[in-house]
Amino acid sequence: MEKLIVSNLSAEAGGKEILNDLSLTLEKGDCLALLGPNGHGKSTLLNVLMGSPEYRITSGSAELDGEDLLSLTADQRSRKGIFMAFQNPPDIPGIVASDFFRASLNVRREEPVSAYDFYRLTEDAYKKVGLNSDMASRHLNEGFSGGEKKRDEILQMLLLKPDLVFLDEIDSGLDVDALAQIAAIINDMRAQGTTFVIISHYDRLYDIVSPNRTAIMVNGSVALEGDSSLAKRVSKEGYSFLRSEYGIDL
Ligand code: ADP
Ligand code: MG
Ligand code: MG
Repeated sequence: MEKLIVSNLSAEAGGKEILNDLSLTLEKGDCLALLGPNGHGKSTLLNVLMGSPEYRITSGSAELDGEDLLSLTADQRSRKGIFMAFQNPPDIPGIVASDFFRASLNVRREEPVSAYDFYRLTEDAYKKVGLNSDMASRHLNEGFSGGEKKRDEILQMLLLKPDLVFLDEIDSGLDVDALAQIAAIINDMRAQGTTFVIISHYDRLYDIVSPNRTAIMVNGSVALEGDSSLAKRVSKEGYSFLRSEYGIDL
């Protein structure tokens, strides 16, 4: 991807407007810290951009390299190189993890991945995220601890090699070592030009990954944008300065 342009996007679910005239642009290689108080639409924005059928677009547009993103299915968006790690990864009983991973790899290839290559890829990915590769034979997320689910999301990111990645509170529930491990993976991918949007309520991940941009969402739109110092300020002071300095009502 070279450029994602979101213009005046509004979306609703259950009769409630959640995104409200939101505009945001991402360039290749950006790492955006997406901040905002709870319930102001951060997860919804990423879900809408990923193609969740839960939301209805009421106006606006999103273009990925000049192509209308909103008319594509989630599956097509994934094949365009977009990946999302969910805030709450769902359990998928009955689906064996390795079958799911193999199928997701194969839809992106002309020839199915060989057994040997698949083994090599998954062994390496399990090692990088600090999970035992025995987990490949388990049903997706079933009985996984919170931290294991988050590591498993990153594992899928490693396998799929996306070029636009949405991480929704990937660090919640991770211990300090796991967080450092995952931050190192993010930094590796950033060095290769992968674009990231990272939602987090803590500065530890941002400290390691150093996003170059910050956007703060309030009431379903981007209320304030800035560089990395804006995220640092929020982690020190919270959001009250939005009202006192910028007249933004939370
Ligand atoms: P954030 O990630 O910023 O905490 P969310 O995007 O999860 O916020 O939610 C924004 C608001 O939209 C919340 O009030 C939430 O309850 C509501 N919301 C999100 N998804 C749905 C949905 N599918 N149906 C109804 N309301 C929703
Ligand atoms: Mg939240
Ligand atoms: Mg959220």
